[in-house]
Amino acid sequence: MHIESATSSQLVEWEKELSVHYERICQHELSLDITRGKPSAEQLHLSDKLDGILATDYRAADGTDTRNYGGMTGLSCARALGADLLQVPTEEVMAGGNSSLTLMYHAVLTGYLFGFAGNVPWRALESPKFLCPVPGYDRHFTICEQLGIGMLAIPLGKGGPDMECVEKHVREDGDIIGIWCVPKYANPTGITYNRETVERLAQLGQIANPGFRIFWDNAYAVHDLGPSINLASIRAATLENDTVDSVLQFASTSKVTHAGSGIAFVSASSANLDSLKLQMQAMTIGPDKVNQLRHSRFFTECTTLEEHMHKHASILKPKFECVLEHLQNALGDSGMGQWEKPRGGYFVSFNTRPGCAKAVVGLAADAGVKLTPAGATFPYGNDPEDSNIRIAPSFPPLEELDTAMSVFVLCVQLASVRQRLAQCRNAS
Ligand code: PMP
Repeated sequence: MHIESATSSQLVEWEKELSVHYERICQHELSLDITRGKPSAEQLHLSDKLDGILATDYRAADGTDTRNYGGMTGLSCARALGADLLQVPTEEVMAGGNSSLTLMYHAVLTGYLFGFAGNVPWRALESPKFLCPVPGYDRHFTICEQLGIGMLAIPLGKGGPDMECVEKHVREDGDIIGIWCVPKYANPTGITYNRETVERLAQLGQIANPGFRIFWDNAYAVHDLGPSINLASIRAATLENDTVDSVLQFASTSKVTHAGSGIAFVSASSANLDSLKLQMQAMTIGPDKVNQLRHSRFFTECTTLEEHMHKHASILKPKFECVLEHLQNALGDSGMGQWEKPRGGYFVSFNTRPGCAKAVVGLAADAGVKLTPAGATFPYGNDPEDSNIRIAPSFPPLEELDTAMSVFVLCVQLASVRQRLAQCRNAS
């Protein structure tokens, strides 16, 4: 039944039934977690051959002894892997440590403390701000919040951020110094930016503060669940618009090999890379080149990137199907929520009826199912509609995910019916 067409007495009955079911589940003392987008143990096993692959042969093809210090930009064979992920020339890539988030943090610090490519440091501005397409990745927002950089939420549609809104802010406010973008299989909505959006973003450099930078976090560049969606090249678009300095691209092997011990990449113009290196040189003598060589050998001797990602997809696909089936079976045509069917990435983004997300997350927690806190996908943890919940299906085994999802949909039903009942009572 559609929730809006239920009468008050039907809602009362419905609430009673759902409550009984919910109380029964609470007695099972479950302990399930669908909070963060971590690869499962089965996925991690796919890359276990990394261990021992060097067999004491530490020399890279270019003669570098990877055990020693040095090489700020990373091994050339590792940079080539980053170039493959980001579809850019190897010379424009720096291969770093295990986390692209760390590189993003350093890039924000570089802009904030020193300025990129000779531009005024952001800290010299009155109120430096990033544009944040929402819902988005909470850890991007945490970086800004920690450094005292302001954030403006921008609606994210099916083809990318609302560009009218982005352009208006950039044109009218010289203190806009960046925008966070997850252009392919976005975290959490799973959408991929369309060509027009990529082109309009590439034109921002013509109207923005010269220190403005697009943080192009392509974390899910090769993480397809089926046929790949083509993302237009932001590099090519900036070359056409003479705005190459306006973009920094990021990727990593975190969800390709071992999440905690992969390689991260940043790709940018030489002026931007020089600024970033200058900042990073003060804190490191170079990245872990031994690990970089392990990765390079893995993708030449054991598998190809494409073949490897197919294996991930075959593990992930049934989990996404499980989530979508639960949503459709329990909530389809109910008016209790809305969701997208992602074609890649790590998440399913679910929108409850406005005002219900916190209640759903709370009910699920009490029933032993941990969800990402409501609001986490918005700057300052503030979802003005209290509606968005990020579901991360990758980590738990399928049976646990199945149980967690049956609890989740029940909590959505219960919170929705209780809210609707309260609305009816208030109106009468
Ligand atoms: N960017 C996005 C959009 C992500 O979803 C994640 C992981 N959840 C990261 C970056 C983190 O990547 P890394 O492990 O390379 O730091």
